[in-house]
Amino acid sequence: MSGCIFCRILNKELPSTVVYEDENVMAIKDIKPQAPVHVIIFPRKHFTGMMDFDLQDKALSIALINAIQKVAEVTGIAEGGFRVINNWGKNGGQTVPHLHYHVLGGADLGEKIV
Ligand code: AMP
Ligand code: ZN
Repeated sequence: MSGCIFCRILNKELPSTVVYEDENVMAIKDIKPQAPVHVIIFPRKHFTGMMDFDLQDKALSIALINAIQKVAEVTGIAEGGFRVINNWGKNGGQTVPHLHYHVLGGADLGEKIV
């Protein structure tokens, strides 16, 4: 989708540090990390966010979970533990309207909600 930051990253129109990618998803380092490891995972297909995700797309649902596991492995946070966050809409604090998950780790995140 033109103008979408993550679509522009997918199209290589904007730079990013890729942590993991496959035919369905891309994972990049967050530009403003909130933890020692802060990775953003998003599908190559554009959805505004959680609420317009196509539940019929079973392969993509699995690909997103698979990407979370892969990111945790390659960044070394699987054993110590990590947090996965999705923000939807205004009250959720979503700033980029392209479905994405935050994966945060590398430190004890305690009980705070990022
Ligand atoms: P959200 O507030 O859930 O929509 O999260 C959007 C995230 O994308 C924020 O954590 C931003 O720091 C991150 N972000 C925005 N632009 C970029 C970019 N060009 N490269 C990497 N991360 C970005
Ligand atoms: Zn997009």
